[in-house]
Amino acid sequence: MYKKGMRRAAALLAVCWLGLLFRAAAETPAEKLERLRAEQQAIEQQIEQNRTDAARAGDLVNLYTAKEQNVKAQIAVLQLKIQECEAQLAGTQAQVAAKLLEVDRSTQSFEARMKGMYEMSRQSGLAVLLGADSLSEMLTFGEYLQRIAVRDTRLIAELTARREELAALAARQQAELDALDASNAELEAAANEYAAALQQANARLSAAQAAEQAGAAAFAAKEQEIAAAEREYAEWAAQSDNNAPEYTGGAFYWPLPGYSTGSPMGWRTLNGVQEFHRGMDIPAPLGTKIYAAADGVVSTKAHYTYGTCVKLSHGGGLVTIYAHMSAWAEGIADGVPVKQGQLIGYVGRTGRAYGYHLHFEANLNGAPVDVRDYLG
Ligand SMILES: [Zn+2]
Repeated sequence: MYKKGMRRAAALLAVCWLGLLFRAAAETPAEKLERLRAEQQAIEQQIEQNRTDAARAGDLVNLYTAKEQNVKAQIAVLQLKIQECEAQLAGTQAQVAAKLLEVDRSTQSFEARMKGMYEMSRQSGLAVLLGADSLSEMLTFGEYLQRIAVRDTRLIAELTARREELAALAARQQAELDALDASNAELEAAANEYAAALQQANARLSAAQAAEQAGAAAFAAKEQEIAAAEREYAEWAAQSDNNAPEYTGGAFYWPLPGYSTGSPMGWRTLNGVQEFHRGMDIPAPLGTKIYAAADGVVSTKAHYTYGTCVKLSHGGGLVTIYAHMSAWAEGIADGVPVKQGQLIGYVGRTGRAYGYHLHFEANLNGAPVDVRDYLG
């Protein structure tokens, strides 16, 4: 299993390496520049995505922070209520205990009194037998005893009833407290949930922020690569053929008679991306004939992002480039001398082009120059 995995990894690596090698071999300075720009744009999109993710995560962090705070505030209010309720319950329970003590005490004193009276009545009875004053006195005493018993019994009943009322109140308060405790438990559970969600959102936020930073670093690195590729491209554009005739000055021949430029050299925004346009674009129908601007030598006949392209060296570090052609003219090949006004190719839209046009560019020692300066 392990060996199989290793073999597959090695195969994959070989494919990647071959791909890299192939690309490195086939890539021209212009293509490299285009690729790097595309890569940078992809990084920019990723950064934008990460920024959106970070913003969303930030919103979630705010949301859950607010929710957690809200629940915690509710818990604080509930805690106060619980404390209040507990105090009330404790008060009621103390009252119940006090009332119970009162009932006990009343019962005890009633019993003591009854016992005393019983003793007294026994002695009185004895006294009667031994010569009581009168029978009427005996009756009166019996009535008196009975009245006392009734009063004490009523008092005990009242105390007991009051105690039962208090016990019922305590039970209600206990039920209320239980309900508050249940609410509290619910809120605590919600608070825990929000805390967990907040933690997750925070993790997402940090990840997105880290990715954003990594993206910014990758973007900066790509910027440097692009600068290097631009230098490389400039060097390529500067290479002029040794066999080129000495450029003696004089006006260029307009390569597309009858057609004028649409987009001149300079900074422009293409699909939302600012880029420096190294030449001018001259829109013309497919197949329109393209002529050499000046005497020179074909120093490059190639396919780039410029498409089917010709580079003419005119000597003195001056080169002209004709790009996005549909085809080369017959006889165009590396090292072939051409005369001013000679047919070199046909208008097309090969390479990175959005419509039929000739991209006409001039470079002096690798630096793009405004073609208009050479038109006389
Ligand atoms: Zn162009």
